[in-house]
Amino acid sequence: MTAKLHCLGASREVGRSAFLLQTDSRVLLDYGVKIFDEAGKPTYPADISNVKLDAAMISHAHLDHSGYVPNLYRFSKIPWYGTPPTYDIADILWKDTMKIQQHDLPWTNAHYKKAMKYWHPIMYKHKTSVRETTFEFTDAGHIIGAAMIHASYNNKKILYTGDFKLEHSRLHEGAKIPKEKVDALIIETTYADRDHPDRKTLEKKFVDEIKETLNEGGTVLCPAFAVGRSQELIRIIRAHDKDVPIYLDGMSKAVSSIYLKYKKYLYDYENFNRDLDSITFVDNLQDRKNATRGPNVIISTAGMMEGGPALNYIKYLNRESKVLFTGYCVEGTNGWRLQNKGQLRVDKNILEVELPVEYMDFSAHAGRTDLHKLVKSTNPEKVVCVHGDSAQAENFALELKEMGYDAVAPKFEDKLTLF
Ligand SMILES: [Zn+2]
Ligand SMILES: [Zn+2]
Repeated sequence: MTAKLHCLGASREVGRSAFLLQTDSRVLLDYGVKIFDEAGKPTYPADISNVKLDAAMISHAHLDHSGYVPNLYRFSKIPWYGTPPTYDIADILWKDTMKIQQHDLPWTNAHYKKAMKYWHPIMYKHKTSVRETTFEFTDAGHIIGAAMIHASYNNKKILYTGDFKLEHSRLHEGAKIPKEKVDALIIETTYADRDHPDRKTLEKKFVDEIKETLNEGGTVLCPAFAVGRSQELIRIIRAHDKDVPIYLDGMSKAVSSIYLKYKKYLYDYENFNRDLDSITFVDNLQDRKNATRGPNVIISTAGMMEGGPALNYIKYLNRESKVLFTGYCVEGTNGWRLQNKGQLRVDKNILEVELPVEYMDFSAHAGRTDLHKLVKSTNPEKVVCVHGDSAQAENFALELKEMGYDAVAPKFEDKLTLF
């Protein structure tokens, strides 16, 4: 009656979250990809094609958690569980992956179609069983439909946090800390070494910067992730200013429309709905021209400026303009290069960018204090620190050990006994 965990990814790294939980059944907890490894190439979880699986539980749609689900249907016919928003957004992201990677993908359109067919909806606070193991999803406060996954087996509890945030943001109320003790906690450690800046202060700074730039005749370009961040930025700007002209471009448009389908999954749905009516969805060349004529705010994918319309906009901005990053950029990506070197790589050419560039930390992940809070209140017998780079995951495990917890930062392909 033991529970084991095979770490297929997100072990001392951020990306390709995938864990195989083995109780009386074999269930995947997430099955994602790492979009950019050190060489800028996609990397996949450890091979499990010869393992007899029973199901997959997908915490949320971000590709580092859901991106390899279609590949499951090359070798299995298992059901995968996710909330309805996760399903809808994964659909958009998987189609986009096929468009970008085409024949370099291990899976094809046929596998994608199967993946769409084998989805089983699961709502927050509803339970589902795979043999004698029960699973329950609760709101993780990270993006729309994101869940923490609670498993119970043989009267013992396992909590897999996925990506989570305890703090209230504009569109999500924040995850509730489980009241009961868990036996094994598998926790993300993306920001184990620091706390995020105070939201209120940061929001004000963000909006002030926008107003200042627009007053001087410039445009503010916010390269932002399509899922979660773009929608949050719209709500933040509109909560402070009803009139600033906002243009939304890239995949965020389709994702924002999905957000509107799910009132129950959003905090402040009414205002967000109204906000979307007040902005311009960039649909054609003329819209794009109008956007750069300024003074405007342009929110556009890609968040790390690896392609997407954000990259094109930069050439057309006037000297008074500014680039504001609000999300983390992986080293080696264009977003990172722009922030650290003032350069972009476009079709192998280096483009020097004279515009001021800034980064503001609007993270959708728990900071250090909240990670500790979750560990303390669930008081686990075993803690598995994942979804953090080597330094974050290892140091956090070490800290917890010093506090008396049995904590570990597993390596890729490690097999652990949870209880
Ligand atoms: Zn995420
Ligand atoms: Zn993640």
